[in-house]
Amino acid sequence: MNPVRLLAGFPVCATLLLSFCLAPAAHAQTSILGFTPASAAHEAEIETKFKSIPTPGEERRQHRIFTAEPHVAGSKRNNELADYIAGEWRKQGLDEVVIRQYDVYGTNPKSASLEMIAPVHYQAVLREAPLDADADSKNPAISGAWSGMSISGEVTAPVVYAHSGNPEDYDLLRKNGIDVKGKIVLVRYSNPYSYRGFKALTAQREGAAAILIYSDPQEDGYKKGNVDPDGPWGPEYHIQRGAITYDFMVPGDPLTPGWASVPGAKRIPIEQATSAPKIMALPLSWHDAKPLLENMDGAVAPADWQGGLPIQYHLGGERVKVHLKIEMENGTQPYYVVEGRIRGAELPDEWVVLGNHRDAWVFGGVDPSSGTASMMELTRALGQLAKQGMRPRRTVVVCSWDGEEVGLTGSTEWGEQFVDDLRAKAVAYINVDEATSGPNLHGEAVASLAPMLVEASRSLQDPSGKSLYDAWKASVESEKRGVRSTDKVTDASLADTRIGSGSDHTVFLNFVGMPVIGLGFEGDYGVYHSAYDDFYWMNHFGDPGYRYHTLMSQLWGVTALRLANADLLPFDFASYASNVRQFVDELTKGNDKDMSQLDLSVVGKDIDAFEASGNRLNDSLRRKLASDAIDPKLAVTLNHGMMQVERNWLNPDGIPGRPWFKHILYGARFTYAHLELPGLTEAVEAKDWATAKQQAEILQRALANNTRLLDELNADLTQR
Ligand SMILES: [Zn+2]
Repeated sequence: MNPVRLLAGFPVCATLLLSFCLAPAAHAQTSILGFTPASAAHEAEIETKFKSIPTPGEERRQHRIFTAEPHVAGSKRNNELADYIAGEWRKQGLDEVVIRQYDVYGTNPKSASLEMIAPVHYQAVLREAPLDADADSKNPAISGAWSGMSISGEVTAPVVYAHSGNPEDYDLLRKNGIDVKGKIVLVRYSNPYSYRGFKALTAQREGAAAILIYSDPQEDGYKKGNVDPDGPWGPEYHIQRGAITYDFMVPGDPLTPGWASVPGAKRIPIEQATSAPKIMALPLSWHDAKPLLENMDGAVAPADWQGGLPIQYHLGGERVKVHLKIEMENGTQPYYVVEGRIRGAELPDEWVVLGNHRDAWVFGGVDPSSGTASMMELTRALGQLAKQGMRPRRTVVVCSWDGEEVGLTGSTEWGEQFVDDLRAKAVAYINVDEATSGPNLHGEAVASLAPMLVEASRSLQDPSGKSLYDAWKASVESEKRGVRSTDKVTDASLADTRIGSGSDHTVFLNFVGMPVIGLGFEGDYGVYHSAYDDFYWMNHFGDPGYRYHTLMSQLWGVTALRLANADLLPFDFASYASNVRQFVDELTKGNDKDMSQLDLSVVGKDIDAFEASGNRLNDSLRRKLASDAIDPKLAVTLNHGMMQVERNWLNPDGIPGRPWFKHILYGARFTYAHLELPGLTEAVEAKDWATAKQQAEILQRALANNTRLLDELNADLTQR
């Protein structure tokens, strides 16, 4: 769906929005999806004021506060930062600022040691070396190597190199006569990308005694380019910390799957928690992995298993023996979510929800403090507008999440606690995790919100001097060239509408049934989850002028304001339909030979009907908006009807085997990778045709329900 098509009915096209910003407001004419011409002119005025408030200087000042000390989930410093945010928000003019406590099963390191005892002795450092150029890297509060949610234990065993630690890697080891039962597997990060928790689960299923996960220079180190402090890539000693929680099964507190960890809530024993790992895990720098790798015997590893170190990688098996000891302090502890809002002036019970996580593995220069700084400037700007009498029409709720890094914990508990309110009131959720690691916008959105996100990017200016829209398009085009794709980048393909997991949008999309948007600027970034992801790195490589932080505050805010102020919510369901059709086509093509077992042509007809209704509704909405006269009661009916569409994609039973994940269009693989039509796709891939048929019927029912709903809304619109 081309969003420009939707704009055709308006007197002036959206590309004039920029020139409008320079023109006197009184003569303004503009068009914005979801706004009447009069409200669009007013909205443009508000946005111009809003965009003028965030400054690079303030972004940098806030970023310094959040990156001054390590602040992992559950730590004193992270809790102090919660108080700091609450205090700032009150000063900035946010309403009803509260800190919500969840008592969750948390994870903390006590000690870890790794010693190679044969064929030669080597004591792993398990710490990052300080860099002369970077004073923060000398902070004694920096943790050593640890994996969140590892179990405690002690083992002496041989080491096997299992490449990325994916199931097919163990198949290859088996073909080479190597059984990893009782052994320690050494795997590397991200080749191809897969969430470390999936590597841990796979090792656990294979019967390994422990898993060591190291950063190979081929993925994020010197093979990519200059390393910190001379470049953005990971140096010899960088350690990618991270949790191994099985939150792809169910996120949040492992002891309260599906309900909130409020005081007095029922809790299951940890032994019964499906998301709690049952294996020891430890991350390593390549400095610590190299002695193990270069001493291994066994067959030479295949070409695609070779890495960036100047050695020949072997499969290992018997020769290298290590003694590994990990002591953890896992147990119940409080996590704190800070919640504030700008109460809506006209529709306080319709919410646009924004969020960013606060907890970091160490300083969190990019992840998440770039997002936290952008959030603080966003809230300052919203507060300032409210003080000047420019409250949004709907309520904007802003949250600082805790324990995202552990298992999407704070957002999940909050979403579970307020699920009823959210289903009744929430328009959308906009997540910013890593705001900035470079200049390339990655914007993701459920397909119904993709056109409005693309439109919003036209009204912003990129530091390069281009519009953000043009810069975004150029960066997606160069990304496509990088993977030799000849697909043309159109407005309909600009936003990424394939949404996996791995951040705080998950509960809102997959459990509550809210449309979501995720925003971030990306670039070369090799220090993820290490002590080197800090203020120095940001000021030298990520965003030295803090201009992308500022642009993020503007983009996040403009997107939120459009959702908060629209007369009729800017959802495009025809766009949704064409995405669903693409998902079904890809599933059919990808499983070509087998698909004779399952007839999806009937689903195709339902998609056609949904698209036709979406197109009719788009036309009616456009005509109604152009008439500049919308009865407020009708607007409420239409907006609540449109909000219901996303809820209707939920199947209360969830996807087979993972009942918490209820969305039938969007899901995530165990690797966190996006997984469209999750229930149907997993059944087809497993060749479980009975389940696939059931899942196809569930999809058909949802499509039919939503088609009916759109037709009713269209009837409401055309009768009045
Ligand atoms: Zn993050």
